[in-house]
Amino acid sequence: MTDPEAPLATIRARIAHAAAVARRKAESVTLVAVSKTRPAEAILPLIAAGQRVFGENRVQEADAKWPALQEAHVDIRLHLVGQLQSNKAEEAVRRFDCIHSLDRPSLLTALAKAMDKVGRRVPLFVQVNIGAEAQKGGCVIADLPALLTQARATDLPIKGLMCVPPAGIEAAPFFALLGKLADDHGLAGRSMGMSEDFETAIMLGATHVRVGSALFGARS
Ligand SMILES: *Cc1c(COP(=O)(O)O)cnc(C)c1O
Repeated sequence: MTDPEAPLATIRARIAHAAAVARRKAESVTLVAVSKTRPAEAILPLIAAGQRVFGENRVQEADAKWPALQEAHVDIRLHLVGQLQSNKAEEAVRRFDCIHSLDRPSLLTALAKAMDKVGRRVPLFVQVNIGAEAQKGGCVIADLPALLTQARATDLPIKGLMCVPPAGIEAAPFFALLGKLADDHGLAGRSMGMSEDFETAIMLGATHVRVGSALFGARS
C-alpha cells in the first residue's frame, strides 16, 4: 500500500458501519492511527486527508519524528500505545496527549510526579493484561482495583481501560471482559481493537481503536 489516503477512507467507512450496526454514533469512536516505525513521508498523506490522532509506541521515536509534523498542524494529538519506563515518564508527559499503557503503581507514581512538574494533566488508560499472558504488559485483573484506587487518590485523569488480547484466537470475549471491567469501575473509555479486529471491538463498545497496518501496510 503506497497511498494511505485510500486506506484511511476505507477504515473510516468501516468504523462508521460497525458503529451504525451497534447503534452507536461514529463520533463515539476515535481512530488512533498507529504510526510507529513509519517515516514522515508515510504519515503526511494521512494528515493531509484530515487524520489528527496518531499513536506511537516509543517516546524516543515520537520525540524525533513529531515536532516537525506538529509544527504545521498544531491540532495533531499523539497517543502513547506502548509500554512506558518510569524514567521516561516526564518525556512522555511532555510529548503525548494521552497515555494508554499505565499498568503498575510505580509508573503511576512517576506519571503523577511528572504531571506536577510539567504542569500538564495527560489522560490515562490503564492497560489490562486481559489474557493473563506472562510475556505481555498490562496490569493483571486481580491488581486492577488497587491500581485504580491509587490513581483516584492521586487524582490522575483516568479515561478508561486498554487491552491487547492474545494473538491468534477470537478477541471478542476479551473485549467483552474489558468492557465489563470498565463498567464495574465506572470508566467510560475502552481502548481496544487493532487492524484485525477493530469492528468487533466497536460492536463491543470500543471508544478508541488503534489501527496501524490496515492504514499503512504491513510493518517490515
Ligand atoms: C502496533 C500496535 C497497534 C497497531 O497494530 P496493527 O495490527 O498494526 O493495527 C495497536 N496497539 C498497540 C499497543 C500496538 O503496539
